[in-house]
Amino acid sequence: MSDGSVREAFRSTFGRAAEGLVRAPGRVNLIGEHTDYNDGFVLPIAIERRTLGAWARRGDRAVRFVSRQATEAAEVRLDAPIRPAKPAWANYCRGVAAGLAARGVPLVGADVLFDSDVPLGGGLSSSASLEVAAALALLAAAGAADAVPPGELARLCQKAEHDFAGAPCGIMDQSIALLARAGQALLLDCRSGESRYVPFDDPAAVLLVVDTQVKHDIADGGYAARRAQCHAAAAALGAAALRDVDEAAVAAAGAAGRLAGKELMRARHVVGEIARTLAGVEALAAGQLGRFGELMYASHASLRDDYEVSCQELDAVVELARRCKGVHGARMTGGGFGGCAIILADAARAEAVGRAVADGFEKRFSRRCPVFATRAAAGAEVLP
Ligand code: ADP
Ligand code: MG
Repeated sequence: MSDGSVREAFRSTFGRAAEGLVRAPGRVNLIGEHTDYNDGFVLPIAIERRTLGAWARRGDRAVRFVSRQATEAAEVRLDAPIRPAKPAWANYCRGVAAGLAARGVPLVGADVLFDSDVPLGGGLSSSASLEVAAALALLAAAGAADAVPPGELARLCQKAEHDFAGAPCGIMDQSIALLARAGQALLLDCRSGESRYVPFDDPAAVLLVVDTQVKHDIADGGYAARRAQCHAAAAALGAAALRDVDEAAVAAAGAAGRLAGKELMRARHVVGEIARTLAGVEALAAGQLGRFGELMYASHASLRDDYEVSCQELDAVVELARRCKGVHGARMTGGGFGGCAIILADAARAEAVGRAVADGFEKRFSRRCPVFATRAAAGAEVLP
């Protein structure tokens, strides 16, 4: 997939040249898992996989969306109320169009074609990259590329995913897609919405992304249950959110019997994970990749044992990585029950590590898992 191939696909689909291109990356979260809905911190980077959108204006009030990853095209009429409809994939785009229109952006009719090398449903946030690409294409077509500030655009895209796709996602995916900078991770405070950049640009290191290509059924219900357990634990501790509690307070409440069972385990993970995320920022700022790697392993163990959102495929990847030379750390990333794991490795060893992990995975599960290397990539842009 390239800028040229997307322009070519646009021409063969719509019979005319595209007027412009937009680009929005996928992401991985380096550390800070299941902390967002506890008012905590996350630390994502944009990856070198992205959704491209080619667009051209039309003479009427229709917007047509086509994706090379979907069979069915979608059409939205700008003069009627915009609602969720079939095909379902285009609801991310419909929601964005509805949000922009509600904000008073003077949208115009357009044809938009998407192509993406972010795996769909793999936990690398193809959904946010699609939303952001749709938003930028519609804004560019309207001649209003800078009309909505990035923070507000992130919230608008998040609302599209809530209201039109029925997915109660946090703000991380859309924020990193819009705000990312090459060579930087983004520390995002999920309570205040504030963010700051943290260097992630050591030329001697690279991040491997390993896609287990599984999604275990428990994912949806498991997520809702954990949110509820976290809120119950915070209430038992007299706190507004687990963000406001420290590790000593959780341990004391456990010892006193005020927190027990699953609620104690969930609280221990969240509170520890928030501390690990802030420690990880210090480690990266000091150039201590070994220290950062230890925090990744600790994060994985906590997600596996206390939060119970890992699975055998993710655990296998982490254990296989741990046995390789030149690996600093590894962990599952994303919500869990499948999806991807990440490995922080020496750049010179990365290829060998990727091969060893894929070989070991194949031995155990009788199929290969895709692996790719990435550095911290730039955020979404409207290409000149
Ligand atoms: P993730 O964001 O981790 O990839 P989600 O379940 O949140 O997983 O979003 C995946 C969904 O987003 C897909 O099932 C599809 O509906 C939609 N989607 C994302 N990218 C594209 C694309 N390029 N073309 C069509 N649909 C897409
Ligand atoms: Mg998503």
